[in-house]
Amino acid sequence: MVRETKYYDLLDVTPDASEPDLKKAYRKKALKLHPDKGGDPELFKEVTHAYEVLSDPQKRSIYDTRGEAGLSEQGGMGGMDPQDLFSQLFGGAGGFFGGGGGGRSQGPRKTKDLVHRVHVTLEELYKGKTTKLALTRNILCSKCKGKGGKDGAVRTCPGCNGRGVKVIMRQMGPMIQQIQTACDDCSGTGEFINPRDRCQSCKGKKVIADKKMLEVHIDKGMKGGQTVIFRGESDQSPTAEPGDVVIVIEEKPHERFRRQENDLIIEVEIDLLTALAGGRFAIRHLDERALIVQVHPGEITKHGDVKVIHGQGMPSQRHHEPGDMYVKINVKFPESIDIASVPLLERALPPREPLEKYGKDVVLDEVTLDDADTRSKTGFRSAQAAAGDDAMDEDSEEPRVQCANQ
Ligand SMILES: [Zn+2]
Ligand SMILES: [Zn+2]
Repeated sequence: MVRETKYYDLLDVTPDASEPDLKKAYRKKALKLHPDKGGDPELFKEVTHAYEVLSDPQKRSIYDTRGEAGLSEQGGMGGMDPQDLFSQLFGGAGGFFGGGGGGRSQGPRKTKDLVHRVHVTLEELYKGKTTKLALTRNILCSKCKGKGGKDGAVRTCPGCNGRGVKVIMRQMGPMIQQIQTACDDCSGTGEFINPRDRCQSCKGKKVIADKKMLEVHIDKGMKGGQTVIFRGESDQSPTAEPGDVVIVIEEKPHERFRRQENDLIIEVEIDLLTALAGGRFAIRHLDERALIVQVHPGEITKHGDVKVIHGQGMPSQRHHEPGDMYVKINVKFPESIDIASVPLLERALPPREPLEKYGKDVVLDEVTLDDADTRSKTGFRSAQAAAGDDAMDEDSEEPRVQCANQ
C-alpha cells in the first residue's frame, strides 16, 4: 500500500508500475510537456522530478512508505536539472563537454579529463623515471579572453533560443519519433556571433589548441594501473573549470621477470653439477646489477624448487621494506656422460632403487626405451617440447597498445 499517489498520477501510471513502465510513461509525458515544444516548464519539472524519484528504487520505497514528506526528510534532494535528465534519457546532443554524467549538483562543471596511457618497463618502475609528455589541449583564446569576439558580439542563438539543442521530428514507419539533436546553427553552444565580429585568432571558438610539456614522475615501485594526476591541466573552457590530465601507468610485460605486487618471480636454469654439488649462478637484475647466487656444496637443489632472495623484489613506494625475489630452479641435465665416470657417480650418489618384487606368476620381460615424440598420443609433454613452446612464446610480439587520448 502506498501512502500517496501524486507522483504516480503525474506520470499517469498505477503504483505497481514496473521500471520500464515508468520510463515509457515519462518519455511520453516529457515529450508532450517539453518546453521546447511549448509545454509548461513547471509541469515538465514536476513530472521529471516524479520520474527521478520513482526510477530510483531507494527513493521510490521512501516515497511509497512515507510520501513526499519522507523524501524531504532524507535531505540532499537537490534534484537534477530536468533538461539533463531529458538529454540522458533521449540520448540528446551530449553537448560540448563529455564529463559529468550525474552528480551535477555538486561543484562547478568541469571539462572532460584527458587520459593518457604511459607504457613503462619493469626496469623503469624499479628505478623510477621522469618522462616528458607533449600534450595538446584547448586553452582560452588570449585575444578575445575566451569571449569569441568583441564585447557584445555574442548573442543568443536564434535557432535554438540558446539551448544548444533542437527537437526534430522524424517519421519512422507509422511512428513519429522526436529526437533531440545539437543545434547546427551554433554547433550546440547556444550562442551566435556574427561572422564579422568573430575573433580572428580563435574564429569565434573562444579556445585555441595549445601544446604543453608535462613532466611525469614515475616513482620507484609504482604499479600498473596507478595514476599520476595533473589537476586542472585538461581543456580550458569559458563555461567550465578545466578537468584533470590523468596519466595511467601501464606495466609492460617483462621477458624474464613476473611481478606479483612487490615481489619478483623468475625462473632460472642451473646445471646438474651445481644442483648437486654447489656452485654459482647469476641473475641480471632490473637495475645495473647482477646477483651472484651461491649454492653451497652439500645443498641439493631439486628441479622445480622455489627459493627466495629476500629484499631483492620491487622497491616499496612508501619506503617500506622492498619485496622479495622468488626463484624457480630448473635443473638442466647433461646431454651425455662419459661411461668411464659412471663408477664415480655410483660412489657419490645413493644406490639405485631395487626392482619391485613380483610373485612367481609374473613373467619378467626385458625391453628398452626409445625416444618418443608424440605428445598427442600420450598427453605427456617431453621436456624438450615444453622448452620449444616457451621459446616460441618469447618470440611472439607482445600486443601493441596505442596511447589513447580520450
Ligand atoms: Zn543554436
Ligand atoms: Zn579569440
